[in-house]
Amino acid sequence: MTIELITIGSELLSGHTLNTNAHFIGGELARVGLVLSRQVSIPDDHETIIATVREALARADWVIVSGGLGPTNDDITKKALARVFDRPLVFHDEILTELKERFARAGRAATPLLDTQALQPRGAEFIPNPVGTAVGIILTQGPKTLVAVPGVPREMQPMIIDHIVPRIAAQTNVTTVSLTWSTTGWPESRLFETLEELIKETPAVTVAFLPSERGVKLRFSATGPDARTTLENWVQTVRPRIMEALYAEDDVALEVVVGKLLRERHLTIAVAESCTGGLIAKRLTDVPRASAYVLAALVTYSNQAKIDLLGVDPQIIERHGAVSEPVARAMAEGAIARTGADCAISVTGIAGPGGGTLDKPVGLVWIGVSQKTGGTTARQFQFMGDREMIRERAAQAALNMLRVRLLTP
Ligand code: AMP
Ligand code: MG
Repeated sequence: MTIELITIGSELLSGHTLNTNAHFIGGELARVGLVLSRQVSIPDDHETIIATVREALARADWVIVSGGLGPTNDDITKKALARVFDRPLVFHDEILTELKERFARAGRAATPLLDTQALQPRGAEFIPNPVGTAVGIILTQGPKTLVAVPGVPREMQPMIIDHIVPRIAAQTNVTTVSLTWSTTGWPESRLFETLEELIKETPAVTVAFLPSERGVKLRFSATGPDARTTLENWVQTVRPRIMEALYAEDDVALEVVVGKLLRERHLTIAVAESCTGGLIAKRLTDVPRASAYVLAALVTYSNQAKIDLLGVDPQIIERHGAVSEPVARAMAEGAIARTGADCAISVTGIAGPGGGTLDKPVGLVWIGVSQKTGGTTARQFQFMGDREMIRERAAQAALNMLRVRLLTP
């Protein structure tokens, strides 16, 4: 089974728009063990589209095309497909009726643009678009199938998940089982060294390391009739070796895991941030229903704010500096004292690029975690990277410190 993807849009080639559709479609296919054999981006140009679609159809069983289905001046994909498949564009009453009904329900007036959206290649099959006006198009020619989806990501995504992937998967009999695990705190090299021997010994499992500022996702896949058992045995062996870094046996953000722990334990949290400027609070409150546990977040950027808002003793700051263990501890304890939260995280560090000294270099960050019952711990980190990376890594390390603390009996 070969599948190719053509993403259409001049904005993709000029660097104006990041090709997230290729990322999404490739990923959704890979989830079920289908791998794109080719992916190409081309401009909104009639002849280029025709030539590229023809070439792809000559090679692949399935060709997926995204973009150029808009009702305005770039409905060019449909015209090109009509040429390739030699099927004239004809008016599809059922499409127009559906669009008019939807517009009427939303209290919007129908426009002549809707007629354009009802003009489609003869004999095509359509995928409904509950979000926009461009339906997805499926055209077949002998054993070959072409699918055209809108470029707008939120219109394209449900079509891929609900219609295209199941349909392609149904035509294959490969069973591939994949799992994604989330780790943080260990660099990719350390994870790789830990698993290197195992990976060599287990060719039936493919391991992908997917690093970002926040950690490394591990993607394990196995193919074949025994895929499930192979993968079950694999995770049993891997789990204890990377336990320290593993925060979820799933592809999930750390704030979701931390939120779940706080909620389960009926604990509230306060955050006292300096160099992360509210990043931790932002991430904690990105999770729906975070109001169940987030009480308050204070961005105490200046020394005076640490004194006034968190009750940090000015003498401590004077003696040890704002970026120090005692200040990190006092910030976390102050956050609890001032807000009444059950636990608190504090961060104070030097994000750079300026402000570093010999004994306190850029990237030095102190993180404190305090619990009303259970005391305060503080840890020093030395992060690498530019200002953004240091802040991102500090926020991640702080959330992870809290996670580990909550799991410690
Ligand atoms: P279209 O179907 O060509 O009218 O697409 C409309 C919009 O979707 C474009 O203006 C882009 O912002 C977005 N878009 C199109 N193709 C892609 C792609 N491959 N990745 C991400 N966004 C895209
Ligand atoms: Mg376009």
